[in-house]
Amino acid sequence: MPASRSARQRKASAEAGELAVVRIDVSPDDSYAYTISCTQCEVPRPGTGTRAWSTRRSGEDNGYMAAMDRWILHLTAKHPDAEAPCLQYLPEARARLQERRDAKG
Ligand SMILES: [Zn+2]
Repeated sequence: MPASRSARQRKASAEAGELAVVRIDVSPDDSYAYTISCTQCEVPRPGTGTRAWSTRRSGEDNGYMAAMDRWILHLTAKHPDAEAPCLQYLPEARARLQERRDAKG
């Protein structure tokens, strides 16, 4: 049995830092989906009002990494003064995003 969902969620929350709310749910294909929302930022929602900024990626470790990469870049762009353990992965996050962009062509 791999790490439980709640254990993963605790670990992800700790790494994402105080501005983040991390939620893990189970996708229709039975894999985990990671949602990281920002407690500070709101984006317009079509129709009425606003919703919290969030990113959602599915797929166990890949989903975790992809969601965290997006979160790291959100932090550096919008909250440059914020402290979070995940910021130590910034160089890797940037490199992975670059790779994905290159792969798309
Ligand atoms: Zn934010």
